[in-house]
Amino acid sequence: MTAVDLIERKRDGGRLSTAEIGWLIKNYTNGSVTDYQMSAMLMAAFIRGLDQAELTAWTDAMLYSGELLDLSAIKAPKLDKHSTGGVGDKVSIPLAPMVAACGIAVPMMSGRGLGHTGGTLDKLETIPGFKTNLDPDTFSRVLSQTGLVLAGQSKTLVPADRMLYALRDATGTVPSIPLIASSIMSKKLAEDLDGLVLDVKVGGGAFMETHDQALELAAILVSIGRTYDLNVVALLTNMDTPLGREVGNANEIAESIAVLAGGGPEDLVEITLALGSEMLQLAGLAKNDAEARQLLRAAIDSGAAMQKFAEVIEAQGGDPGVLEHPGLLPKARYQEDLPAPRGGYVTVCDALNIGMAAMRLGAGRERKEDLIDPAVGITIVAKLGERVDEGQPLARISFNDEGRLAMARPLLKRAFHIATIPAARPPLILGEVRS
Ligand code: URA
Repeated sequence: MTAVDLIERKRDGGRLSTAEIGWLIKNYTNGSVTDYQMSAMLMAAFIRGLDQAELTAWTDAMLYSGELLDLSAIKAPKLDKHSTGGVGDKVSIPLAPMVAACGIAVPMMSGRGLGHTGGTLDKLETIPGFKTNLDPDTFSRVLSQTGLVLAGQSKTLVPADRMLYALRDATGTVPSIPLIASSIMSKKLAEDLDGLVLDVKVGGGAFMETHDQALELAAILVSIGRTYDLNVVALLTNMDTPLGREVGNANEIAESIAVLAGGGPEDLVEITLALGSEMLQLAGLAKNDAEARQLLRAAIDSGAAMQKFAEVIEAQGGDPGVLEHPGLLPKARYQEDLPAPRGGYVTVCDALNIGMAAMRLGAGRERKEDLIDPAVGITIVAKLGERVDEGQPLARISFNDEGRLAMARPLLKRAFHIATIPAARPPLILGEVRS
């Protein structure tokens, strides 16, 4: 078997056997297949796709490219939630402590932001001292001590995905449904879960721009779960406009804390409750949506969810003082408002342009190796459907660098449309796929 034979066959629309895919991924992970060969294979797979058997083989080869977590000592039901990525999507941060307070063990492995989408790890690391780079023993210890752990993927877990994702990022092969599905599911299957809830984002600020694409991705993700006997629920949720009012890292932590304190913007709270409800039902801790929402609300109202967040922050080396004093989070030196050019209703508040503007400010990365500025970000003062008067702020920009502000400003201006008649607000939840 040679890599060139396999690349040529995929290029010409043929299919690869399970053994061939296993060989390819194994030899790429150990360095025998080169980056340039794998790049060609990824582009061939991007264009030709993978059929069901190839997808299963690809996922399996990635899953077994490293070690698997063994969380059998944890008796509580173990569930995770994963989002395909969006703008202002900080749901994991309030959600994990809420469901942990209800009795679910949450071994949450998250990623970093790339392009216009944010990453949970970057956000969490704005909490002074908080560490996300945990070795497997610390990961398991924090989970058994607190009922949740919020960390990055360890080096030994699914190394093939780490290598392939970097290569896809550099070769224009990220937005492929089978490659995204195998990447997400190999990492989640390595977590030793009892159930998984997926938030598949749909819209201009997401990888999947159309409902049909998102539905196809969701169906494939759920079908991979079924192959491995993992119960998966996928909700399709709107990402034409940012979730909540804050986009950035420290400001998204502040908004997450507000949700745990019983406040926060309505759309963010609704998506958090909807996903939390699915987790509680999958775990068998609630019989239906109404019961699950009652439990989640009680976790907030009693302070139990906030207490869980405090415990996990402390266990991961952070300062839980931020929960009472969000002023301890990094703060940008300057602020500037984007004024409304006319009065009326916000009919477009575009996630992609706002995400790109936040990235230009330094909140996100253009390339994987870029450093981010934890303090900068955008506060959406007038959300989709809200009324503004001429000259009132549409958004507030927190920045540290005039040059970056100059790059972000035009993108942010382009993000807002104002009309005299309000447009109907699209639903937040657009569909679901279940095992
Ligand atoms: N998230 C992942 O983990 N992998 C992808 O390929 C895309 C989004």
